[in-house]
Amino acid sequence: MAEKLKRLGLENVRDLLFYYPWRYDDFSKPQKIISLRVGQEAIIKAKIFQIKQSRTRRKWMSIIEAVLADDSGEIKAIWFNQPFLIKILRPGTEWLFAGKVNWDFKGKQKTLAISQYEKEPVILPVYGETEGITSKYLRRLVKPILTEISDTPGVSEKWLGEYLPREILESEGLIGLSEAIQKIHCPPSSKDIELAKKRLAFDELFLIALRMLRSREELSQKNAISLKWDNKLLQDFVGSLPFKLTDAQRKAAWEIIKDLSRPVPTNRLLEGDVGSGKTVVAAMAVLVTAKNGYQAVWLAPTEILANQHFYNVVQLLKKFKVKVGLLTSAQKIADTDKDDLIIGTHAVLQKNISFPRLALIIVDEQHRFGVKQRAHLRKTTYTSEVAVNRLKVVPHLLSMTATPIPRTLALSFYGDLDLSVIDELPPGRAKIATKVISPKNRGHAYNFIHAQIKNGRQAFVICPLIEESPGKTGQLFDLDRKSAVQEFEKLSKDVFPDLKIGLLHGRLKSKEKAETMKKFHHGKLDILVSTAVVEVGIDIPNATVMMIEGAERFGLAQLHQFRGRVGRAKHQSYCFLFTESWSEIAKKRLQAMTSCHSGFKLAEIDLRLRGPGELAGIRQSGLPDLKMASLSDIILVKEARQAAEKICQDGLERYPRLKEKLQEFETERHLE
Ligand code: ADP
Ligand code: MG
Repeated sequence: MAEKLKRLGLENVRDLLFYYPWRYDDFSKPQKIISLRVGQEAIIKAKIFQIKQSRTRRKWMSIIEAVLADDSGEIKAIWFNQPFLIKILRPGTEWLFAGKVNWDFKGKQKTLAISQYEKEPVILPVYGETEGITSKYLRRLVKPILTEISDTPGVSEKWLGEYLPREILESEGLIGLSEAIQKIHCPPSSKDIELAKKRLAFDELFLIALRMLRSREELSQKNAISLKWDNKLLQDFVGSLPFKLTDAQRKAAWEIIKDLSRPVPTNRLLEGDVGSGKTVVAAMAVLVTAKNGYQAVWLAPTEILANQHFYNVVQLLKKFKVKVGLLTSAQKIADTDKDDLIIGTHAVLQKNISFPRLALIIVDEQHRFGVKQRAHLRKTTYTSEVAVNRLKVVPHLLSMTATPIPRTLALSFYGDLDLSVIDELPPGRAKIATKVISPKNRGHAYNFIHAQIKNGRQAFVICPLIEESPGKTGQLFDLDRKSAVQEFEKLSKDVFPDLKIGLLHGRLKSKEKAETMKKFHHGKLDILVSTAVVEVGIDIPNATVMMIEGAERFGLAQLHQFRGRVGRAKHQSYCFLFTESWSEIAKKRLQAMTSCHSGFKLAEIDLRLRGPGELAGIRQSGLPDLKMASLSDIILVKEARQAAEKICQDGLERYPRLKEKLQEFETERHLE
C-alpha cells in the first residue's frame, strides 16, 4: 500500500498522525429521514425493509438496493460494488447508516448512497481518500499507533513532544499536543473534537504568524536599489494614456513609487478588483525601474496571460523606449542582458537565467501561483542578490491580486507585506447583469447571445471539465458535467452553425492556445468555449456575454473572476449562470452572484456559506493552505498573531523546542 499512501503524502508514522480527518461521521446523532436534503451527507438510524441485488449493464457493477425506514419516513439506499453486504444487512435489522443524499436516476426520488454502516453510535473520522485507500483503512492504521503512544510516555514524547510554551497553552486554554492528536483521530465526544481542532488550528495560525514576523525582520535588514522617480516622466506617461487614471490608481502608484525609492526591499501587495486597472499601475513601476537603468521581471501565472501582457505593456511603454521581452517555456523573444522588462511565466525563474540588473519583480495574479511556485519565488527573491557598488541587494517585490482578502486576514497572513488597494473601478462601467438560467430557458439565452454577436459583440462559454470523465464508482451524477470539448462541438454544429467558435483548454499546445486567443482578441472568433484557463486577467473589451456551465462547481471568487472578463468597455454586459444542482447552498451561492457585485463581499459570503474547513473555498481565495485552521475564525487568527508577537519580543531563542518546530514547519512548507 506504500505507493498509494504516498499519493496522500503519507510516508511515515508522523505523517499519519498529522493527517487530520476532514470530517466525522457522528453516529451518535442520527437524523430523521424526513429531514434529509439532496446534496447533504447524513446519518440515519433505520430498519431495513426490502433488500435486493442487481447489476448495471455497463461494467456489470453490483448494485444493492434497499428500502430503509425510521418512524418519520423511508428512503431508498444504494451500495455499489459490495455484493457481500446482502448477507449482513438482513431485512428487519436496525443499523446506523452514513451516506450522501442524491436524486435517483429519474430525478424524482431521494436516495442515500451509503458509505458506512454501524451498529454502535460511534464517532468515526473521515479522511481525504484516494483510490485504494479508504477512511476505514486509515482508521485501522492509526488506531494501534495511538494506543502505543498513550501507553508508552517515551514514544509520546518522541512523536508528539509539546513545543508550545506553557504560558501560551494556559492563556489560550489549549489542550496538549499529544492529547489533541489522540482526540482528533479518536474523539470520545463531539466536544473533544472541538478541543482538538482548536489546539491544532491554533498551531497552524501561530506558526504562520511567527514565520511571517521573522521574515519581515530578515527583509528589513537587507538592501535594495533605490530607484528615483522623475515627475516629468510620470506626467508624460499619465498623459500618454487613452484614459484618465482613477484616484485609487494614482494613490496606489504613488505608494509603490515611493517604496521603490527606498534602499530597503519593497514587499507590497497591490489588491484591486477585477478590471480595476492594476496593469498600468505596475507599468509605471517598470518605467521608473527602466529609467534608472535597471531591469524588471513581470510574472504571470499562465502563458496566455503572459502573451497578453506582452502585447499590452509594449503598447503602454512604446513611447518611452523601454525594451520589453517575452519569456515562457514555449516562446523566447527576449534578451535577458539588454531588455528592461522581461514578461514571462514561472519558467523565467526556473531556467537558471540571470538578469544582470534586476531590481524589481512583479508577480501578477499572485494567488494563482501554486504553493510550490510561491515558495520558490520567495526563495529566489530573497536569494537573487546582486552586487551593486559592493553592496549586496535584493530586488523589490510587487505582488498583484484581484482576490479580495479582508483586511484583517491580509494583515495576519501577509503582515510582512505592505498593502495598496485600488477600491474603485474606472468610470462608466455598467454593472454586469447576472442571471441564474433554468434549463428550460437555455434556448432564450442562446438567442440572446446570437443577437449580441450579430450586434458585433463576442461571448465566452465556460465549462468545468475538459472531457467527459467516466465517473468514479458511486458518482453517477458526475456524468452530466459539461465538458468544453463536447460543448464546443454542440455549439458549432447544432446551436450556432453560422458563427465562428473557438476552443481553449489547458491540454492544448501553447502555440494553439496563443493562436486561439489572438483570433478571439482580433474578433475573428465570435464565441470562445473554454475551461477555467481564462479565469485570470484576460482582457477582451469587446466581449459582453459570459456564460458559465456547472456554475455551482466554482468558488464565488472564481465566478466573480469569470464575470470580470466581460464589462471591460462601455457595452452593457451579461453573465449567465447555468446549474444542474438545486441544493440549498448552491442556490444561495448563485443568488449571491446575481445581487452582489463586490468581489470582497462575495469572498466573505462564500467563506460563510461553504463553512469553515472548506478547503476548496480557501484555496481559491489565495490565502495560505491550511489543514485545520479556518480563516473565518477571526478571533483565533488574532490570538495566534498576538501570541506570535509576544514570542518574538521575548526572543525565539528562549524557546528551543518551538524554534526547532518552526524550522521543521518552514522546510515542510517549502517542500510542498
Ligand atoms: P486588472 O486590474 O483586472 O488587471 P486591467 O489592468 O487589465 O485590470 O484593466 C482593465 C481594463 O481597464 C483595461 O482594458 C485597461 O486599459 C482599462 N483601464 C485601466 N485603467 C483605466 C482608467 N483609469 N480608465 C479607463 N479604463 C481603464
Ligand atoms: Mg490583471
